[in-house]
Amino acid sequence: MIVKREKLNLWERLYGPAIVDGFKVTLRHFFFGKTVTMQYPEEKWTVPEGYRGAPYLVKDPEGRTKCVSCQLCEFVCPPKAIRITPPGPVVDTTTGNVEKRPKEFEIDMLRCIFCGYCQEVCPEEAIFLMKDYSLTGQSRAEMVYDKEKLLALGGVHQDKIWKWKNK
Ligand code: SF4
Ligand code: SF4
Repeated sequence: MIVKREKLNLWERLYGPAIVDGFKVTLRHFFFGKTVTMQYPEEKWTVPEGYRGAPYLVKDPEGRTKCVSCQLCEFVCPPKAIRITPPGPVVDTTTGNVEKRPKEFEIDMLRCIFCGYCQEVCPEEAIFLMKDYSLTGQSRAEMVYDKEKLLALGGVHQDKIWKWKNK
């Protein structure tokens, strides 16, 4: 079967109707459409509960570092993003208890794949994947977060799993 094509006039051959239709759609969205762009980084996505963002260390409600430097997370981390330097025991002056905590704790955020294994394996509930998904830095060294930075970003975790309790 031979399909007979209609002959295009000059206006159609210059793509006139298609261009006008395109502009009509653009103008409709420009004046009446809802905003779909975001002023990043001032505006950011609101991520749902349970979102696995960057892993940070947390303190207990009394301000103590919860991590006991057991190094489980370091062993389990698939891309070897965690590096822990364990210290000798430190006597806590307020309680007299012997506390174990990391001398240094680093996470290379360029290596981290946000898998959550460190959070799952931690016996002290000392490390959590938070909602931070946008990490930036101007050098590779800047993307290695040290203990102070991880604790500052993690903040205080309100839970009942403490290394010890004052009695
Ligand atoms: S989230 Fe995964 S990759 Fe990132 S530090 Fe934890 S175990 Fe390692
Ligand atoms: S964060 Fe948890 S698993 Fe990792 S060293 Fe500290 S206590 Fe152990």
